[in-house]
Amino acid sequence: MRQRLVVGNWKMHGSRAMLREFLHKMQEMAPFTDVQMAICPPTIYLHEAQFLRDEFGLSAIALGAQDVSAVNSGAYTGQISAVMLREQGCQYVIVGHSERRQYLHETNEEVVQKAIRAREAGLMPIVCVGEGLDVYQAQQTQAFIVAQLDPLISAIQSNELDRCVVAYEPIWAIGTGLAATPAYASQVHGFIREQFAKVNSIFSQQLTILYGGSVKPDNAAQLFHAPDIDGGLIGGASLQPAEFMSICKAMR
Ligand code: PEP
Repeated sequence: MRQRLVVGNWKMHGSRAMLREFLHKMQEMAPFTDVQMAICPPTIYLHEAQFLRDEFGLSAIALGAQDVSAVNSGAYTGQISAVMLREQGCQYVIVGHSERRQYLHETNEEVVQKAIRAREAGLMPIVCVGEGLDVYQAQQTQAFIVAQLDPLISAIQSNELDRCVVAYEPIWAIGTGLAATPAYASQVHGFIREQFAKVNSIFSQQLTILYGGSVKPDNAAQLFHAPDIDGGLIGGASLQPAEFMSICKAMR
């Protein structure tokens, strides 16, 4: 049985006041535990998020970070290690989000190093993959994703990495309001699972694959009920507690 997971990626949005309000509203809506919910606020708010989550008795909501360093410690000004995130109560960390690949030129190899550091510290990495509009229009999605997954699959094959979550996020669907159709997303998820099955069938069967890209309360149920879609990575709609809760309920 694969974990069903819905993760909110706040990106560089929010404030201390919003965090308190968000968690307070979540408490009022009585979160459930049959779907794992997680929020990834900006790293600076993680400490407070942990404190407030405990104050509001919201153990059902896990915390995650939006990035982690590929190294454990040292002279890397501005970076934050996986151990530090764990100390702030994190359970998850997003790695290789398309915005970081695009603006900070993160490579597939660096993303895998981040995932490995995360696992070493006891965090679950959520490894993002997904094609841009040009690749999608040229119908080259599969080849593009194979290249993105290649170092990740090698790390699993060599036992450098024992577990991860994969998030399929077509870049043309992120923040555009144009979600992939359930049929298209499901087909890509099935393809991703097949790539892992080639090296480890048990890993592949247990792998949670999230869909991300304009998931909203009105399309979540259709997406989440499609084969091979085990949950969602939610951007814009995760900033509103009612919308986020409604999307989490769609996964039940
Ligand atoms: C994201 O930020 O990863 C994302 C999927 O954003 P949105 O839900 O707003 O498209």
